[in-house]
Amino acid sequence: MGKIVGIDLGTTNSLIAFMDKETPRVIKNAEGVGMLPSVVAFGEGEMWVGEAAKRRLVTHPDKTIYSVKRFMGKGFDDIRNEARLFPFQFVEGPVVRVQIGEKLYTPPEISAFVLKELKQRAEAFFKEPIRQAVVTVPAYFNDGQRQATKDAGKIAGLDVLRMINEPTAASLAYGFQKRKEGIIAVYDLGGGTFDVSILKINNGIFEVLSTNGNTHLGGDDIDQLLVDFIVKDIFKHHSIDLSNDPTALQEIRIRCEELKRKLSSAERAEISLPFPQKKITYRCEIKRLEFEELIGPLVEKTMGPCKQAMEDAALGPDQIDEVILVGGSTRIPVVREQVAALFKKVPHSEIDPDEAVALGAAVQADILAGGITHMLLLDVTPLSLGIETMGGVVSRLISRNSTIPTSAKEMFTTFVDGQQSVAIHVVQGEREMVKDCRSLARFNLTGIEPMPAGMPRIEVTFLIDADGILNVTAKDIRSGKVHSVEVKPSYGLGHDEVESMIASSIAHAQEDFNERMLIEARNEAKTVLRHVEKALREGGALVGEPERQEIDQSAVALRAAIEGPDHLPIREALDRLDRSTQHLAALLMDRSLKEVLQNKKLTDL
Ligand code: AMP
Repeated sequence: MGKIVGIDLGTTNSLIAFMDKETPRVIKNAEGVGMLPSVVAFGEGEMWVGEAAKRRLVTHPDKTIYSVKRFMGKGFDDIRNEARLFPFQFVEGPVVRVQIGEKLYTPPEISAFVLKELKQRAEAFFKEPIRQAVVTVPAYFNDGQRQATKDAGKIAGLDVLRMINEPTAASLAYGFQKRKEGIIAVYDLGGGTFDVSILKINNGIFEVLSTNGNTHLGGDDIDQLLVDFIVKDIFKHHSIDLSNDPTALQEIRIRCEELKRKLSSAERAEISLPFPQKKITYRCEIKRLEFEELIGPLVEKTMGPCKQAMEDAALGPDQIDEVILVGGSTRIPVVREQVAALFKKVPHSEIDPDEAVALGAAVQADILAGGITHMLLLDVTPLSLGIETMGGVVSRLISRNSTIPTSAKEMFTTFVDGQQSVAIHVVQGEREMVKDCRSLARFNLTGIEPMPAGMPRIEVTFLIDADGILNVTAKDIRSGKVHSVEVKPSYGLGHDEVESMIASSIAHAQEDFNERMLIEARNEAKTVLRHVEKALREGGALVGEPERQEIDQSAVALRAAIEGPDHLPIREALDRLDRSTQHLAALLMDRSLKEVLQNKKLTDL
């Protein structure tokens, strides 16, 4: 078995690390730099990755791709608005693609260039080929985003053995697995994303109790606030409008980022930009206090998700033992102060916040390689998963916040006599109706033996592996026919959507419940009516005229109730029909038909 490396594929920067005896270490390049900017630049038949690419942000903004992690596993519709903020060209279509000259690249392809660069760095270091890696992903990455990350690895020639959530990796880097038990909060403010997670450790076992955050909040946004401020200030003092000049804006962005970094250690810092054509140099000194005022609302925006994460974990600040800071933006003093105030304790920052995740990935790689054997990592699914059943109702198999890896199994049946195939529609979300959830995948299970409705047994299994990837299998028990998919949704989902999906499920709980009850009652009524018709055809002569009339009238009443807007009258009419057919059912000697009449246990597909 070759070496297994740990990779932090970040929005702004990426790193690669390995376990050096018992200590995880980041692999540096020839210049002694560990961080590789997650930037890829294209030129005439040439390509640059990392620092060299980052330098081209100014000169070739349209051909230099950054923050591509934001687009991983997403559809173009999801990023349409955001795409406008980037100087490179996106192409309309079901998946996100970036156009460079004649060529189109997907986010996994761009990320693969970054991974390849890291892989080569490790190969130069070890002087041997590297083929296996552990890659970290934000805790809230959905199946599609995780799959896209795995794809990026594959394109780069890496077998991604395991993907672990970034906060879990950070905890491993701190060696907190050695604690007998405890609660850890991981506050991760990187370049493009903000994540907060509450983890529980028990005898070396990690469990993610809750996660929250915002995929659109980070150092990039802080830079943007500064850029906007400076552009306005330049206009105010020199009447130069740079707001539509991409080259100038990129230059300002780089200077603002430097300014921001300086303000983390200095009380004041200066930015200066020469305008040779106008024979002037713009200068501006910014004090840390002014900077803190400017970014105050942004830092405040991270507090809500922290409170929510604590609430979801049913824990208060006093019950949290350790707080870990991750991501370069946590070097900003005001961020640290706010985190300390919220969690009522000084957060850990002994490990370089830029390296913690990669170091933890290396620890996980070592666990897989067999170096560390006593640890298990548990994560949770952010949203519920289920399948569509008759009438567009969701049948939930795995609930939100279930610890992964996990699996669930349920039996379903057919709705129509002789039905030889069923459509399996996999959905994600908290609402009762399919139309209010996200569609993840669809497939057909064919080759079901023709039988009366309700007879086939179709076993649907959901399996979420340790990487959070969902595998759905449908099996016709009688014929043994099986069909399965690995869910690879074309549309991604951010924290905001997850939040709003959960919020809307709470807001619509009552109406969802009513709608579900109505549809379920209608479905059952239709099935029962069909069965009763069949029973009458086959055994109607066995009962007397008054009884026959009562059955007919009950059926008419049920048909009328089905048209109504309420489930209770349907239930009443169903009961009446049930009572009026009991004698007929008893008379019918055909046991299988009896089964059909009484079998309402399985849900129809
Ligand atoms: P990451 O995704 O963790 O690599 O995050 C990098 C982000 O941290 C970028 O937005 C950097 O500008 C920011 N960053 C790095 N160092 C500092 C610093 N000393 N002060 C403020 N922000 C920083």
